[in-house]
Amino acid sequence: MAQQIKSPNIEKNNSKIPYFSVLGVFVIGVLFTVLWRPLNLDRTVYVPLTPQAETTVTDNPHQPVDVGDARVEIVDSNSNNKQITESSDVPEDEIAKDELDEIIDDKDNTMQYTISRGDTLHDILLRYNVNKNDIYQLTSNYKQLANLRIGQQISWTTDDNHNLQSFSWTISSNNIRVYERSGDKFVESTETAEGVSQNIVISGDIKTNFVADARKSGLTSSEIGIITRALQWRLDFKRLQVGDKFSVILAREMHGKRLSNSQLLGVRIKNGNKDYYAILADDGKYYDINGGSLSQSFFRYPLAKQARVSSNFNPRRLHPITGQVTPHNGVDFAVSRGTPVLSVGNGEVVIAKYSGSAGNYIAIRHGRQYMTTYMHLDKILVKPGQQVKQGEKIGLSGNTGRSTGPHLHFELHINNKPVNPLTASLPISDGLTGKSKKAFIAKVKNIKSQLSL
Ligand SMILES: [Zn+2]
Repeated sequence: MAQQIKSPNIEKNNSKIPYFSVLGVFVIGVLFTVLWRPLNLDRTVYVPLTPQAETTVTDNPHQPVDVGDARVEIVDSNSNNKQITESSDVPEDEIAKDELDEIIDDKDNTMQYTISRGDTLHDILLRYNVNKNDIYQLTSNYKQLANLRIGQQISWTTDDNHNLQSFSWTISSNNIRVYERSGDKFVESTETAEGVSQNIVISGDIKTNFVADARKSGLTSSEIGIITRALQWRLDFKRLQVGDKFSVILAREMHGKRLSNSQLLGVRIKNGNKDYYAILADDGKYYDINGGSLSQSFFRYPLAKQARVSSNFNPRRLHPITGQVTPHNGVDFAVSRGTPVLSVGNGEVVIAKYSGSAGNYIAIRHGRQYMTTYMHLDKILVKPGQQVKQGEKIGLSGNTGRSTGPHLHFELHINNKPVNPLTASLPISDGLTGKSKKAFIAKVKNIKSQLSL
């Protein structure tokens, strides 16, 4: 319309009348649109369709509807009824686990876990695919297991079919509760002897893949997990080849034959001609042999400029009408269509496709623990399998899928769990400096000499 107004014909005729009449119609149009919207909102009717996904019906599919502080998005279904749902309902199973995760998860072994905020034993064991009946047997017979404290260590062993064989809870180094399987039940005993701590070095060659070979050499799944996480930003473990080598130094605490605690002090992995090290510093973090950071930084926002948040992360969001929990697993940014969307960190594209609810969406895996997703895109600019850099343009924001207004839905998953990307603690990529660096370098000398290959 703007081009017509400024067209040379009108200018030459010196005729202002068409200009003002066109402008007048335009202004009335705008006013009409603005005033029309609340009328539509009044006619919104809520109809719960399924108990899980809360749905709403309205007669206008193109308006975002505000319900409290949460924006609800409208779906254009094929009938008269237009659903309103969250934009975040991408099926979790579509985000593929990578091979290493599968290998670590699938095999029977001993897992070690440190209790963190919000953990319950039931949820932890469920997350690691422990047989549900066993979880029930254990937690219902031993109510004291509800008293796990942040920072305490637990460990457990399962068989090939995820049946729990034994479970142990380290309350302190001379107070360990052990629950051993006996038929369908578990029998509790207490170990009060001090554990014996010893440093051991384990080395091996890559013959099939790192996880299998590391396990064969005597490392537990938990220890393998710590190694792969420590080096996750430096080394893609899938690229290790036959003939590559590894060497690990661990401080293991043993109670008789049972491993009660293990700490990775250092690891060296030889990939072709290159050596990768992760050495534990006094601050509890791993660094390379020069005290350089092994982690990488993340952007808070996948956008070049900060944008208004139109809907916040809320895992327990209650639907204002039905009272049902309808989680919003990400953050919605109100950005106009075509806004460049940037990868928040270095990573590998694992999904780049259209899906009914998410529209055009991208999932990027960053290292071993982090995953980000970007939904409702107008355009996808990357392909699955592609490596992307932090800040790289991966798509253009849009309004595809179950979305009623242009916006970007962004999710951050840590260890396969959605977290609030605006508040989650993200890795900091600072290396050591000053005194702590000096102390670290001295330590490296000692550890490095034990990691010969
Ligand atoms: Zn959303």
